[in-house]
Amino acid sequence: MSAKVMELYRDLERIQRNLPSCNGCRKCCDTPSVNIEATILEFLPLALHLLKNNSIERWMKILETTDELNRCVFFDPHSEHGGCSYHSFRPLVCRLFSGSYILRKEKPKVWGCRHLKPQLYELLEGLPNCQEVYSKLLSIDFFLAQERYPINIALKKALEYVYVSLFPTLKYKGA
Ligand code: SF4
Ligand code: SF4
Repeated sequence: MSAKVMELYRDLERIQRNLPSCNGCRKCCDTPSVNIEATILEFLPLALHLLKNNSIERWMKILETTDELNRCVFFDPHSEHGGCSYHSFRPLVCRLFSGSYILRKEKPKVWGCRHLKPQLYELLEGLPNCQEVYSKLLSIDFFLAQERYPINIALKKALEYVYVSLFPTLKYKGA
């Protein structure tokens, strides 16, 4: 499942590679996490990455005292990678917000960032379709992709899912 999610991310990166730059703005991450929603499935690759790097328990601890009113735990205003500590593992909303479209009454409308919207309208034909991208995610695993949570909660659930699935006998106390 994780490999399929990463393949979806790579496909999106290919489609979006010529989008206008955010120039280090970082405004969309600088908000309570309740405003940014993701699913458990989108964080599976990162959960496995943290597990391999022996940092999953550290993040589970951080998330114990974090809720949907806090900013995304990965937001780092000083980071070189767009303010995101794990930029290559960021979920779909963070990717689609900077360049995608939705169909409204069968007409494409740029979805996401108002700062980039005028430029994105000029690139409309090359943008990814949000609804199609989420359908592909659902086709990977309906159960883990159907519910969207505030980003910190989705991450916490993904870490718990990986931890408890792989180590059922270890029983992380917060899981
Ligand atoms: S998507 Fe928009 S708000 Fe977010 S960092 Fe880029 S320009 Fe800023
Ligand atoms: S995962 Fe990264 S890009 Fe997405 S809201 Fe958090 S800091 Fe921002």
